[in-house]
Amino acid sequence: MTTEQNPTTTDQQPQVEEQSAAQNSSPAAAVGKIVKSEEEWRQQLSAAEFHVLREAGTERPFTGEYTDTTAAGVYRCRACGTELFRSDEKFESHCGWPSFFAPLAEDRVRYITDTSMGMRRVEVRCAACDSHLGHVFEGEGYSTPTDLRYCINSISLTMDPR
Ligand SMILES: [Zn+2]
Repeated sequence: MTTEQNPTTTDQQPQVEEQSAAQNSSPAAAVGKIVKSEEEWRQQLSAAEFHVLREAGTERPFTGEYTDTTAAGVYRCRACGTELFRSDEKFESHCGWPSFFAPLAEDRVRYITDTSMGMRRVEVRCAACDSHLGHVFEGEGYSTPTDLRYCINSISLTMDPR
């Protein structure tokens, strides 16, 4: 996992604290979120991973390594390792990407309205590191408990078998 970039702050050195707060442009870091520069992500991820996770790209359908995976396990964010989805909520949607009817917990993901490509879609991102995961669609008539389809790129995930 990541280590805090801030030097260990002590009560005797409030100036150091101020300095590091100024360097961190996002206040999100205060609530345990993972904030890295795009350059750091570029070094950590492969070019294909970076394109999907950090540039909201989409892998080609029926090409991802987890599209048809039915093994039991937990799917973690490939960028930061946060546990996002479980095999228990994965279902066969035949859409070409891994599909889940719910995240592991609602606080693991966040939603952004995406109006690119002339459509109104809801983008799904990792709540911890803000990496792009895919989109969520509702009301498609799948016989799942939620009638939601979290359409997630395989390349955004790492599966840990149980
Ligand atoms: Zn993440």
